[in-house]
Formats: sequence, structure tokens, C-alpha cells
Amino acid sequence: MTINPPPHIARPSTDLVGPMVWFRGQPVAVTSSPPRDTTDPRYNACTEHRLACDCREAELSEGLAEHRIDRFALREQLEVALIDHPTVVLVDGIDRADLHCRCQGCEFARSISLVPFKNTRYLRSLL
Ligand SMILES: [Zn+2]
Ligand SMILES: [Zn+2]
Repeated sequence: MTINPPPHIARPSTDLVGPMVWFRGQPVAVTSSPPRDTTDPRYNACTEHRLACDCREAELSEGLAEHRIDRFALREQLEVALIDHPTVVLVDGIDRADLHCRCQGCEFARSISLVPFKNTRYLRSLL
């Protein structure tokens, strides 16, 4: 009996599995991951300080994580402050700036492109 799994199930193959990156046109298995932040022991242990060395990778990913967290926190604050505001209004998929909420909070959210998901109104014209 042949089992025919659904298309999202991986088939047996000789391809690399697990984490990999493309380098010079071929897949290369990722055998170690860079440090995620400066608390990683490799951050202090780094001595060579070449391009993309452990300490630079640690600082970069820590910085990115902080930016991401700040942005999530800001979006959460805006979600609370702008509850039920029509910050962005789309009529038939077309952005209607004349229908946007004009309060300062909504202006700010639009100016930094951080409109809470629930504050976008998708309307249909009745024509
Ligand atoms: Zn280093
Ligand atoms: Zn508003």
C-alpha cells in the first residue's frame, strides 16, 4: 500500500534538513547559531573582533530585539489609547484620508506607520 501524504508533509529526500543558509549558490547546514544577546558567554569570550564576530553578532541581535520589543510596546499603548478610533479608513480598498480620525493619537500612529490592526476600517461603498 502506498501512503500519499498531504502536500505540506515533507517527502523523503537527500536534501539538507533543519536550519540552513544559502552560501554561494548552495545550501549549507547551520551547525552553530550566533549569540542572541550580550549575556551569551561567547560575547565576553570574543577576542578576534573580525567582521560578524560573536560580540558584534550579540550586540546586533540584542539591539534588534530591543527595537522590536519597543515597537510592540508602543503598538500596545496605541491600541489602548486609540480604542475604536478609525485611524485608517479604506473604502473598497482605497485609502480615504478624508475619513481618517483627526485626533493627535491617530495622527501620530499614522505618521510612524504603527496603526493598531483593529483601527483600520475596511468599508464598502453602497454604490
Ligand atoms: Zn568580537
Ligand atoms: Zn483618533
